[in-house]
Amino acid sequence: MSQKWRMATREVHAGEARIKPENALTTPVFQSSTFTFADTADLARFTEARRHGASGARVEYGRYGNPTVAAAERKLAELEDGESALLFSSGMAAISLVLLSFLSQGAHVVMTDDCYRRTRQFLGDFIGRYGVDSTVVPVGDYGALESAITPNTRLVVTESPTNPYMRIVDLPRLVSIAQRRHVRTVIDSTFATPVNQRPLRMGIDLVVHSATKYLGGHNDLLAGAVIGSTDLLAQVRETQSIIGAVCDPHTAYLLIRGLKTLSLRMAHQNRVGLAVASFLEQHPAVQRVYYPGLVTHPDYTIACEQMDGFGGVVSFELNADLKATCQFVDTLRIPYIGPSLGGAESLIVPVALASYSDYSPEDRAAIGISDTLVRLAVGLEDADDLIDDIRQALDCMLT
Ligand SMILES: *Cc1c(COP(=O)(O)O)cnc(C)c1O
Repeated sequence: MSQKWRMATREVHAGEARIKPENALTTPVFQSSTFTFADTADLARFTEARRHGASGARVEYGRYGNPTVAAAERKLAELEDGESALLFSSGMAAISLVLLSFLSQGAHVVMTDDCYRRTRQFLGDFIGRYGVDSTVVPVGDYGALESAITPNTRLVVTESPTNPYMRIVDLPRLVSIAQRRHVRTVIDSTFATPVNQRPLRMGIDLVVHSATKYLGGHNDLLAGAVIGSTDLLAQVRETQSIIGAVCDPHTAYLLIRGLKTLSLRMAHQNRVGLAVASFLEQHPAVQRVYYPGLVTHPDYTIACEQMDGFGGVVSFELNADLKATCQFVDTLRIPYIGPSLGGAESLIVPVALASYSDYSPEDRAAIGISDTLVRLAVGLEDADDLIDDIRQALDCMLT
Protein backbone atom coordinates (compact mmCIF):
# COMPACT_ATOMS: atom_id res chain seq x y z
CA MET A 1 0.00 0.00 0.00
CA SER A 2 2.69 2.47 1.04
CA GLN A 3 4.62 1.66 -2.18
CA LYS A 4 2.53 4.40 -3.79
CA TRP A 5 3.88 6.97 -1.40
CA ARG A 6 6.91 9.04 -2.15
CA MET A 7 10.12 8.67 -0.17
CA ALA A 8 9.53 11.13 2.70
CA THR A 9 6.06 9.74 3.44
CA ARG A 10 7.38 6.19 3.41
CA GLU A 11 10.17 7.21 5.80
CA VAL A 12 7.59 8.45 8.30
CA HIS A 13 4.86 5.81 7.93
CA ALA A 14 6.01 2.67 6.11
CA GLY A 15 6.50 -0.57 8.01
CA GLU A 16 4.85 0.57 11.23
CA ALA A 17 1.39 -0.57 12.28
CA ARG A 18 -1.18 2.20 11.92
CA ILE A 19 -2.66 1.35 15.31
CA LYS A 20 0.02 0.37 17.80
CA PRO A 21 -0.18 -1.20 21.28
CA GLU A 22 -2.00 1.10 23.72
CA ASN A 23 -2.58 3.50 20.79
CA ALA A 24 0.96 4.80 21.16
CA LEU A 25 1.94 6.99 18.22
CA THR A 26 5.48 5.58 18.02
CA THR A 27 6.37 1.91 17.65
CA PRO A 28 7.29 0.67 21.14
CA VAL A 29 10.57 -0.96 22.10
CA PHE A 30 9.69 -4.61 22.69
CA GLN A 31 12.51 -5.21 25.14
CA SER A 32 11.89 -8.92 25.46
CA SER A 33 14.10 -11.88 24.61
CA THR A 34 11.23 -14.38 24.57
CA PHE A 35 7.63 -14.34 23.30
CA THR A 36 5.27 -16.81 24.92
CA PHE A 37 2.27 -18.95 24.03
CA ALA A 38 -1.17 -18.92 25.64
CA ASP A 39 -1.25 -22.70 25.97
CA THR A 40 0.26 -25.79 24.37
CA ALA A 41 -2.37 -25.75 21.61
CA ASP A 42 -1.20 -22.23 20.70
CA LEU A 43 2.40 -23.47 20.63
CA ALA A 44 1.40 -26.45 18.48
CA ARG A 45 -0.38 -24.16 15.99
CA PHE A 46 2.72 -21.97 15.80
CA THR A 47 5.17 -24.82 15.17
CA GLU A 48 2.80 -26.38 12.64
CA ALA A 49 2.49 -23.08 10.72
CA ARG A 50 6.25 -22.61 10.82
CA ARG A 51 6.81 -26.09 9.42
CA HIS A 52 4.79 -24.97 6.41
CA GLY A 53 6.81 -21.76 6.19
CA ALA A 54 3.86 -19.63 7.34
CA SER A 55 4.49 -18.52 10.91
CA GLY A 56 3.79 -14.99 9.72
CA ALA A 57 5.06 -12.10 11.76
CA ARG A 58 4.94 -14.05 14.99
CA VAL A 59 8.22 -14.87 16.71
CA GLU A 60 9.14 -16.93 19.75
CA TYR A 61 12.69 -15.85 20.51
CA GLY A 62 14.86 -12.76 19.98
CA ARG A 63 17.42 -14.38 17.73
CA TYR A 64 14.62 -15.19 15.27
CA GLY A 65 12.99 -11.78 15.35
CA ASN A 66 11.47 -8.98 17.40
CA PRO A 67 8.45 -6.76 16.63
CA THR A 68 10.39 -3.46 16.90
CA VAL A 69 13.15 -4.84 14.68
CA ALA A 70 10.55 -6.18 12.23
CA ALA A 71 8.96 -2.72 11.90
CA ALA A 72 12.37 -1.21 11.10
CA GLU A 73 12.98 -4.01 8.57
CA ARG A 74 9.65 -3.40 6.81
CA LYS A 75 10.36 0.33 6.63
CA LEU A 76 13.82 -0.27 5.14
CA ALA A 77 12.43 -2.75 2.60
CA GLU A 78 9.94 -0.14 1.40
CA LEU A 79 12.59 2.59 1.19
CA GLU A 80 14.82 0.40 -1.02
CA ASP A 81 11.90 -0.91 -3.11
CA GLY A 82 12.67 -4.43 -1.92
CA GLU A 83 10.42 -7.29 -0.83
CA SER A 84 12.20 -7.93 2.47
CA ALA A 85 14.89 -6.57 4.72
CA LEU A 86 16.91 -8.04 7.55
CA LEU A 87 18.73 -6.10 10.26
CA PHE A 88 21.98 -7.01 11.99
CA SER A 89 24.08 -5.79 14.89
CA SER A 90 26.45 -3.94 12.53
CA GLY A 91 27.15 -3.29 8.88
CA MET A 92 29.98 -5.82 8.91
CA ALA A 93 27.67 -8.46 10.42
CA ALA A 94 25.25 -7.80 7.54
CA ILE A 95 27.94 -8.03 4.87
CA SER A 96 29.69 -11.09 6.27
CA LEU A 97 26.50 -13.06 6.98
CA VAL A 98 25.11 -12.27 3.51
CA LEU A 99 28.33 -13.52 1.94
CA LEU A 100 28.45 -16.61 4.19
CA SER A 101 24.89 -17.43 3.14
CA PHE A 102 25.75 -17.76 -0.54
CA LEU A 103 29.34 -19.07 -0.49
CA SER A 104 30.74 -22.48 0.29
CA GLN A 105 34.00 -24.31 -0.22
CA GLY A 106 35.23 -24.01 -3.80
CA ALA A 107 33.14 -20.93 -4.57
CA HIS A 108 34.63 -17.84 -6.17
CA VAL A 109 33.75 -14.16 -5.69
CA VAL A 110 34.56 -11.16 -7.85
CA MET A 111 34.90 -7.90 -5.96
CA THR A 112 35.53 -4.36 -7.19
CA ASP A 113 38.42 -2.58 -5.50
CA ASP A 114 38.24 0.53 -3.27
CA CYS A 115 35.68 -1.44 -1.19
CA TYR A 116 35.35 -1.01 2.58
CA ARG A 117 38.57 -2.36 4.03
CA ARG A 118 36.96 -4.91 6.34
CA THR A 119 34.89 -6.28 3.45
CA ARG A 120 38.08 -6.78 1.46
CA GLN A 121 39.61 -8.51 4.48
CA PHE A 122 36.56 -10.74 4.88
CA LEU A 123 36.62 -11.80 1.22
CA GLY A 124 40.40 -12.11 1.18
CA ASP A 125 42.27 -13.67 4.08
CA PHE A 126 39.27 -14.52 6.22
CA ILE A 127 36.96 -16.48 3.96
CA GLY A 128 39.98 -17.79 2.05
CA ARG A 129 40.60 -19.97 5.10
CA TYR A 130 37.31 -21.75 4.35
CA GLY A 131 38.21 -22.46 0.74
CA VAL A 132 36.50 -19.51 -0.95
CA ASP A 133 38.53 -17.77 -3.62
CA SER A 134 38.20 -14.13 -4.66
CA THR A 135 39.41 -11.85 -7.42
CA VAL A 136 39.61 -8.08 -7.05
CA VAL A 137 39.06 -5.97 -10.17
CA PRO A 138 39.49 -2.21 -10.51
CA VAL A 139 36.30 -0.12 -10.27
CA GLY A 140 35.42 1.02 -13.77
CA ASP A 141 37.19 -1.84 -15.61
CA TYR A 142 34.19 -3.83 -16.91
CA GLY A 143 36.37 -5.97 -19.20
CA ALA A 144 38.37 -7.13 -16.17
CA LEU A 145 35.12 -7.76 -14.31
CA GLU A 146 33.77 -9.96 -17.08
CA SER A 147 36.97 -11.94 -17.54
CA ALA A 148 37.33 -12.49 -13.77
CA ILE A 149 34.05 -14.45 -13.71
CA THR A 150 34.65 -18.22 -13.71
CA PRO A 151 32.21 -21.16 -13.70
CA ASN A 152 32.63 -21.20 -9.90
CA THR A 153 31.79 -17.51 -9.42
CA ARG A 154 28.77 -17.20 -7.15
CA LEU A 155 28.73 -13.49 -6.39
CA VAL A 156 29.86 -10.15 -7.74
CA VAL A 157 30.36 -7.85 -4.76
CA THR A 158 30.60 -4.11 -5.25
CA GLU A 159 30.27 -0.82 -3.46
CA SER A 160 29.18 2.57 -4.83
CA PRO A 161 30.09 5.29 -4.06
CA THR A 162 33.39 3.92 -2.78
CA ASN A 163 35.50 5.02 0.10
CA PRO A 164 37.71 7.11 0.06
CA TYR A 165 37.79 8.00 -3.65
CA MET A 166 34.04 8.20 -4.17
CA ARG A 167 34.20 6.11 -7.35
CA ILE A 168 30.84 5.28 -8.92
CA VAL A 169 30.11 1.83 -10.36
CA ASP A 170 27.96 1.77 -13.50
CA LEU A 171 25.35 -0.51 -11.94
CA PRO A 172 23.26 -1.37 -15.03
CA ARG A 173 26.48 -2.34 -16.81
CA LEU A 174 27.72 -4.46 -13.90
CA VAL A 175 24.29 -6.11 -13.63
CA SER A 176 24.16 -6.97 -17.34
CA ILE A 177 27.58 -8.65 -17.18
CA ALA A 178 26.70 -10.62 -14.04
CA GLN A 179 23.27 -11.66 -15.36
CA ARG A 180 24.72 -12.85 -18.64
CA ARG A 181 26.94 -15.19 -16.59
CA HIS A 182 24.15 -16.08 -14.12
CA VAL A 183 25.98 -14.62 -11.14
CA ARG A 184 24.22 -12.79 -8.30
CA THR A 185 25.13 -9.22 -7.42
CA VAL A 186 25.56 -7.59 -4.01
CA ILE A 187 26.18 -3.90 -3.44
CA ASP A 188 27.22 -2.01 -0.34
CA SER A 189 25.14 1.13 -0.87
CA THR A 190 25.96 2.74 2.49
CA PHE A 191 27.37 5.96 0.97
CA ALA A 192 24.32 6.44 -1.26
CA THR A 193 21.30 5.59 0.91
CA PRO A 194 17.95 4.79 -0.77
CA VAL A 195 17.42 8.54 -1.16
CA ASN A 196 20.31 8.91 -3.60
CA GLN A 197 20.29 5.49 -5.32
CA ARG A 198 17.95 2.46 -5.65
CA PRO A 199 20.15 -0.46 -6.78
CA LEU A 200 17.34 -3.08 -6.72
CA ARG A 201 15.54 -1.12 -9.45
CA MET A 202 18.72 -1.36 -11.53
CA GLY A 203 18.72 -5.16 -11.20
CA ILE A 204 21.09 -5.68 -8.26
CA ASP A 205 20.04 -8.74 -6.19
CA LEU A 206 20.99 -7.67 -2.67
CA VAL A 207 21.63 -4.23 -1.17
CA VAL A 208 23.66 -3.99 2.02
CA HIS A 209 23.95 -0.96 4.31
CA SER A 210 25.87 0.01 7.35
CA ALA A 211 22.82 1.56 9.04
CA THR A 212 25.33 3.05 11.49
CA LYS A 213 25.87 5.84 8.96
CA TYR A 214 23.15 7.85 7.17
CA LEU A 215 20.24 5.52 7.95
CA GLY A 216 20.64 5.88 11.72
CA GLY A 217 21.92 9.37 11.07
CA HIS A 218 22.82 10.49 14.59
CA ASN A 219 26.18 8.86 15.38
CA ASP A 220 24.50 6.93 18.20
CA LEU A 221 23.88 3.39 16.95
CA LEU A 222 25.54 0.46 15.19
CA ALA A 223 23.45 -1.64 12.81
CA GLY A 224 23.53 -3.26 9.40
CA ALA A 225 20.87 -4.19 6.88
CA VAL A 226 20.33 -6.27 3.77
CA ILE A 227 17.40 -5.75 1.41
CA GLY A 228 16.28 -7.96 -1.49
CA SER A 229 13.81 -10.64 -2.53
CA THR A 230 12.03 -12.68 0.15
CA ASP A 231 13.57 -15.84 -1.35
CA LEU A 232 17.17 -14.70 -1.06
CA LEU A 233 16.56 -13.12 2.33
CA ALA A 234 15.17 -16.42 3.64
CA GLN A 235 18.64 -17.91 3.15
CA VAL A 236 20.27 -15.02 5.00
CA ARG A 237 17.67 -15.25 7.76
CA GLU A 238 18.55 -18.92 8.22
CA THR A 239 22.25 -18.00 8.58
CA GLN A 240 21.37 -15.30 11.09
CA SER A 241 19.21 -17.67 13.11
CA ILE A 242 22.28 -19.92 13.49
CA ILE A 243 24.93 -17.27 14.04
CA GLY A 244 23.04 -14.39 15.66
CA ALA A 245 24.44 -10.86 15.28
CA VAL A 246 20.87 -9.57 15.53
CA CYS A 247 19.85 -5.94 15.87
CA ASP A 248 18.57 -5.24 19.38
CA PRO A 249 15.11 -3.67 19.83
CA HIS A 250 16.32 -0.37 21.27
CA THR A 251 18.69 0.11 18.33
CA ALA A 252 15.81 -0.69 15.97
CA TYR A 253 13.74 1.99 17.72
CA LEU A 254 16.54 4.54 17.22
CA LEU A 255 16.83 3.46 13.59
CA ILE A 256 13.08 3.92 12.99
CA ARG A 257 13.37 7.37 14.54
CA GLY A 258 16.42 8.22 12.42
CA LEU A 259 14.80 7.00 9.19
CA LYS A 260 11.89 9.43 9.64
CA THR A 261 14.21 12.31 8.72
CA LEU A 262 16.36 10.53 6.12
CA SER A 263 15.23 12.59 3.11
CA LEU A 264 15.47 15.85 5.04
CA ARG A 265 18.96 15.01 6.22
CA MET A 266 20.14 13.73 2.84
CA ALA A 267 18.88 16.85 1.05
CA HIS A 268 21.00 18.93 3.43
CA GLN A 269 24.05 16.67 3.26
CA ASN A 270 23.86 16.47 -0.57
CA ARG A 271 23.72 20.26 -0.76
CA VAL A 272 26.47 20.91 1.80
CA GLY A 273 28.68 18.13 0.36
CA LEU A 274 28.56 19.75 -3.07
CA ALA A 275 29.10 23.26 -1.65
CA VAL A 276 32.13 22.14 0.39
CA ALA A 277 33.58 20.16 -2.55
CA SER A 278 33.18 23.15 -4.89
CA PHE A 279 34.78 25.45 -2.33
CA LEU A 280 37.72 23.09 -1.78
CA GLU A 281 38.32 22.74 -5.50
CA GLN A 282 39.11 26.43 -5.91
CA HIS A 283 41.32 26.84 -2.81
CA PRO A 284 45.08 27.06 -3.56
CA ALA A 285 46.02 24.81 -0.59
CA VAL A 286 43.98 21.94 -2.05
CA GLN A 287 45.54 19.72 -4.68
CA ARG A 288 42.63 17.48 -5.65
CA VAL A 289 39.03 16.89 -4.62
CA TYR A 290 37.17 13.58 -4.94
CA TYR A 291 33.41 14.16 -5.04
CA PRO A 292 31.16 12.58 -7.70
CA GLY A 293 29.07 15.75 -8.02
CA LEU A 294 32.04 17.68 -9.44
CA VAL A 295 32.45 17.70 -13.23
CA THR A 296 36.16 17.02 -12.64
CA HIS A 297 35.36 13.63 -11.06
CA PRO A 298 36.06 10.69 -13.42
CA ASP A 299 32.61 9.17 -12.76
CA TYR A 300 30.58 12.40 -12.88
CA THR A 301 28.49 11.28 -15.87
CA ILE A 302 27.53 7.89 -14.41
CA ALA A 303 26.86 9.53 -11.05
CA CYS A 304 24.41 11.98 -12.66
CA GLU A 305 22.66 9.14 -14.50
CA GLN A 306 22.12 6.76 -11.61
CA MET A 307 22.06 8.96 -8.52
CA ASP A 308 19.76 11.70 -7.22
CA GLY A 309 22.43 13.26 -5.02
CA PHE A 310 26.07 12.70 -4.15
CA GLY A 311 26.06 12.59 -0.36
CA GLY A 312 28.04 14.30 2.34
CA VAL A 313 31.46 12.66 2.05
CA VAL A 314 34.21 14.68 0.38
CA SER A 315 37.78 13.39 0.08
CA PHE A 316 40.63 15.71 -0.86
CA GLU A 317 44.40 15.94 -1.05
CA LEU A 318 46.29 18.95 0.21
CA ASN A 319 49.37 20.64 -1.22
CA ALA A 320 51.30 19.58 1.88
CA ASP A 321 52.90 16.66 3.70
CA LEU A 322 51.47 14.39 6.44
CA LYS A 323 52.51 16.81 9.21
CA ALA A 324 50.86 19.84 7.60
CA THR A 325 47.79 17.72 6.81
CA CYS A 326 47.49 16.84 10.50
CA GLN A 327 47.93 20.52 11.41
CA PHE A 328 45.08 21.40 9.03
CA VAL A 329 42.83 18.80 10.69
CA ASP A 330 43.82 20.04 14.17
CA THR A 331 43.02 23.66 13.23
CA LEU A 332 39.39 22.87 12.34
CA ARG A 333 36.86 23.80 15.01
CA ILE A 334 33.62 22.19 13.80
CA PRO A 335 34.33 18.65 12.53
CA TYR A 336 35.27 16.07 15.14
CA ILE A 337 38.29 13.88 14.40
CA GLY A 338 37.02 10.34 14.07
CA PRO A 339 35.81 7.59 11.76
CA SER A 340 32.27 7.13 10.42
CA LEU A 341 29.93 9.42 8.51
CA GLY A 342 26.29 10.29 8.01
CA GLY A 343 25.44 11.66 11.45
CA ALA A 344 24.58 15.13 12.73
CA GLU A 345 28.16 15.99 13.67
CA SER A 346 30.73 16.45 10.90
CA LEU A 347 33.65 14.03 11.13
CA ILE A 348 37.09 14.23 9.57
CA VAL A 349 40.08 11.89 9.31
CA PRO A 350 43.51 12.03 7.71
CA VAL A 351 43.05 8.73 5.83
CA ALA A 352 46.73 7.70 6.11
CA LEU A 353 46.50 7.83 9.91
CA ALA A 354 42.99 6.46 10.32
CA SER A 355 42.39 3.50 8.03
CA TYR A 356 45.91 2.68 6.91
CA SER A 357 48.06 3.43 9.96
CA ASP A 358 49.36 -0.14 9.93
CA TYR A 359 50.71 0.33 6.39
CA SER A 360 54.21 1.67 5.75
CA PRO A 361 54.32 4.95 3.75
CA GLU A 362 55.56 2.87 0.76
CA ASP A 363 52.67 0.37 1.02
CA ARG A 364 50.18 3.23 1.28
CA ALA A 365 51.66 4.84 -1.81
CA ALA A 366 51.44 1.49 -3.62
CA ILE A 367 47.66 1.33 -3.10
CA GLY A 368 47.34 5.01 -3.92
CA ILE A 369 46.60 6.42 -0.46
CA SER A 370 48.42 9.72 -0.31
CA ASP A 371 49.73 11.12 3.00
CA THR A 372 47.71 14.28 2.46
CA LEU A 373 44.38 12.57 1.75
CA VAL A 374 41.63 13.77 4.07
CA ARG A 375 38.07 12.44 4.30
CA LEU A 376 35.44 14.86 5.49
CA ALA A 377 31.93 13.61 6.23
CA VAL A 378 29.70 16.64 6.54
CA GLY A 379 27.04 16.57 9.21
CA LEU A 380 23.98 18.73 9.63
CA GLU A 381 25.75 22.00 10.44
CA ASP A 382 25.22 25.15 8.35
CA ALA A 383 27.12 25.08 5.04
CA ASP A 384 28.59 28.56 5.45
CA ASP A 385 29.85 27.84 8.97
CA LEU A 386 31.56 24.68 7.75
CA ILE A 387 33.09 26.43 4.76
CA ASP A 388 34.28 29.35 6.92
CA ASP A 389 35.90 26.87 9.28
CA ILE A 390 37.61 24.95 6.47
CA ARG A 391 38.75 28.25 4.91
CA GLN A 392 40.44 29.47 8.11
CA ALA A 393 42.25 26.13 8.51
CA LEU A 394 43.37 26.08 4.85
CA ASP A 395 44.44 29.72 4.95
CA CYS A 396 46.71 28.89 7.94
CA MET A 397 48.57 26.50 5.64
CA LEU A 398 49.35 29.26 3.15
CA THR A 399 50.94 31.62 5.68
C1 LIG B 1 30.97 1.71 8.09
C2 LIG B 1 30.89 0.93 6.85
C3 LIG B 1 30.77 -0.47 6.89
C4 LIG B 1 30.78 -1.24 8.19
O1 LIG B 1 29.65 -0.97 8.94
P1 LIG B 1 29.62 -1.12 10.54
O2 LIG B 1 28.23 -0.70 10.88
O3 LIG B 1 30.67 -0.22 11.08
O4 LIG B 1 29.91 -2.54 10.83
C5 LIG B 1 30.66 -1.14 5.70
N1 LIG B 1 30.67 -0.49 4.51
C6 LIG B 1 30.78 0.84 4.44
C7 LIG B 1 30.79 1.49 3.11
C8 LIG B 1 30.89 1.59 5.60
O5 LIG B 1 31.02 2.92 5.52
